[in-house]
Amino acid sequence: MKIASYEATILRVPEDDPLADMPEEAGRLRPIVILRLRTDSGIEGIGVTLYGGLMTRSLQAAIEDLCAAIVGEDPMRIERIVAKLRAGTGDSCGPGGIFTLALSAIDTALWDIKGKALDQPLWKLLGGHRDRVATYASGSLRRGLTDAQAQQAAQTLVRKGFKAMKTQMALPGDPTPAEEERRVRVVREAIGPDITLMCDINQRWRPEQAIDIGSRIEDVGLFWLEDVTAHDDYAGLARVTAALNTPIAGGEYVWGVVPFRHMIEARSVDIVMIDLARVGGPSQWMKVAGMAEAFNLPVVSHVMPEILLHMVAACPNGLTVEYMPWMLALYEETPTLEDGMLVLPKTPGLGLKFDEKAIGRFKA
Ligand SMILES: [Mg+2]
Repeated sequence: MKIASYEATILRVPEDDPLADMPEEAGRLRPIVILRLRTDSGIEGIGVTLYGGLMTRSLQAAIEDLCAAIVGEDPMRIERIVAKLRAGTGDSCGPGGIFTLALSAIDTALWDIKGKALDQPLWKLLGGHRDRVATYASGSLRRGLTDAQAQQAAQTLVRKGFKAMKTQMALPGDPTPAEEERRVRVVREAIGPDITLMCDINQRWRPEQAIDIGSRIEDVGLFWLEDVTAHDDYAGLARVTAALNTPIAGGEYVWGVVPFRHMIEARSVDIVMIDLARVGGPSQWMKVAGMAEAFNLPVVSHVMPEILLHMVAACPNGLTVEYMPWMLALYEETPTLEDGMLVLPKTPGLGLKFDEKAIGRFKA
């Protein structure tokens, strides 16, 4: 079997909130690139990548240039292909940036092809540790909402069957620590003590702020506090992690594999969050998961639950999947939720099929 052809397409997907219907800004579109990678035996693998922003056309071109270089390669030899692409870009277009975002789409499509060729779902190929996995609602309880909207959205998520959800602090403006504290307490009150609650700071606090506000809310019982300060301030993160009882999660902004070593060696986080596009695809995601396992740390996913549930379910230290519904509308069907858990698909590869009508609507 050989790689025969490819097609990379830019889409603009609405940034709505299908979970609680509480969009922060109505009508905004998120640019992404989808890849269809085809073999001479008729198998098509799909991949998706994002974060190109203003450079999304460049990201599309990067995917096309890299795919052109691997036509004729055996798609089952994924590490050989990754090495060829790295070498072909002078080994210097990484570990961050457009090369890695493009590589992620290609690596994802190759794993989809491998699964389809072997008639196995991806989570089994990657290790198959569990066939259902914990998940939490994300993207609804944003910092731009009022307290009343956040409460209403949180209760909607509970009604929909979510057993876990994530909110945000680092509120807009210049909030006092007491105002920050109020928001997370309001959400906790709305959902009661039995729902798992996480909170994302998106790198907006100083380490000392994180320790101050984090200490005030220890009794809220957060499952984790996420990206409390700059992702590459490994020492600052370690200080917060050591100071608080609440577990600290981080890693979604980290590029490639090696920086995770520095983050983990510095004991910067209690929970390692791995983004698929920034790490470079499923191959590299699983390497970081293995490294975290060796340090006795759990791993969690960032966005694209329809793809990432495979990786979190595959590894023994996979903790939970972020159910961020940004791209669910791209597919005919996405994994089902049962009792607050995601059920792993039985279909081969990613188990996803593009909904061609939706793709047509989102085309730029
Ligand atoms: Mg986050």
